[in-house]
Amino acid sequence: MNNDIFEKCYKFEDAKRAQMLGIYPYFKPISTAQTSEVIINGERKIVCCSNNYLGLTTHPKVKQAVIKAVKKYGTSCTGSRFLSGSLDLHEEVEEKFARFIGKESAILFTTGHHVNLGVISSLVGKGEVVITDKLDHASIIDGCMIAKYFGAEVVRYRHNNMEDLERVLRKYEDKPKLIVVDGVFSMEGDICNLPEIIKLAKLYNARVMVDDAHALGVLGKNGRGTAEHFGLEKETDLIMVTASKSLASIGGFIAGKEEVIHYIKHHARSLIFTAALPPAQVAAISAALDVIQEEPERRKRLWEITNKMLKGFKELGFNTRNSQTPIIPILVGGGEQGVLTFWRMLYDEGVFASPVLPPAVPEGEELIRTSYMAIHTDEQLEFILEKFAKVGRKLGIIGGSGFPKGRIIKIKKKKMLPKKIAQRFLLGTKRWMRKLFSAKF
Ligand code: PMP
Repeated sequence: MNNDIFEKCYKFEDAKRAQMLGIYPYFKPISTAQTSEVIINGERKIVCCSNNYLGLTTHPKVKQAVIKAVKKYGTSCTGSRFLSGSLDLHEEVEEKFARFIGKESAILFTTGHHVNLGVISSLVGKGEVVITDKLDHASIIDGCMIAKYFGAEVVRYRHNNMEDLERVLRKYEDKPKLIVVDGVFSMEGDICNLPEIIKLAKLYNARVMVDDAHALGVLGKNGRGTAEHFGLEKETDLIMVTASKSLASIGGFIAGKEEVIHYIKHHARSLIFTAALPPAQVAAISAALDVIQEEPERRKRLWEITNKMLKGFKELGFNTRNSQTPIIPILVGGGEQGVLTFWRMLYDEGVFASPVLPPAVPEGEELIRTSYMAIHTDEQLEFILEKFAKVGRKLGIIGGSGFPKGRIIKIKKKKMLPKKIAQRFLLGTKRWMRKLFSAKF
């Protein structure tokens, strides 16, 4: 028996195989700023996979604030918030965020992932229950795993299915409960049914935490996210956001009642045992919060773009699932090879998008996840639609009999594609595949 812990690494071939085939979509080194157009390996690409929703990563005010902070505070805090790493800057931005989001208090973690780890595992322990939507973000799942280690029960309900949530709540009626849900689901682009979740939470005495990573700056009249969108700011107990999307930085907040934030601050291991967010990134968050409030036209433009793209994709015959936001998934199916082929053809046409593979989606429901920024120009959007149409037609996903329009092709685990579809699929990509084998990638 081989007892070398590294053995699995030597045997891990999947990614290498995809690299050899030229359909490996990960770790692409961008050599420009994160905007709607980037350079990757010397090639110009139009981006439709960024979470820079308001386009603030290159905003002059945000960049200026970062330079100023570095001049004053240097580059790092070299310690945790708990001990030597707290700056007045951290406290100022926490107060600013709490005011903006309409909560008593907020605390800033080093990433959004850390927020979900720390908040869930510090609030939910032995004899208590954390309840999540099946499509919640991986960082929520990771937080639940730590909570489980400390004795919490972890239960999931079917995606946005309120009957199923009620079933779970009823089952755990007598226990303290926290419902954690994405405001906007990161792969599907749909919005959680917050009014119903809050109604049920009140009925069964549960607390609600909304992960607004993809809603801050996007949803609500003032960009305050899902709770503002539904007019439920007071009723939502905890609002989590990441600073790595609309806030053009990195870091994450949890906001809520003063006592609850105070408790989290003194119990969340992912806050206490990691270094504080560096001054440059704190300053970027602070400036971005100002810009969100000063330039509402950015959000307006983002929604114009969202509506244009949703309409555009639907008119072309693509299935955009239940997207209601600037995250617009395009159903491709075709297994891993199918969706990666679609991705690579788009990439060669000059469009940089993200493939979504199982287990993030069920097999046969593979997606190309697209997302939009307020800084996309109309020309860039037309370009994206034109290229999707070209690739979609070539592969028979639209306007052909290969991948029937709007229908999900279920491919059972380990079963091959139905012969007719496989032939058509390969036919459409044959030339490209041949080119692939000789492509340096
Ligand atoms: N929650 C959701 C819904 C996310 O999409 C993400 C990041 N993709 C996170 C949390 C984690 O945030 P961060 O990138 O700041 O770690």
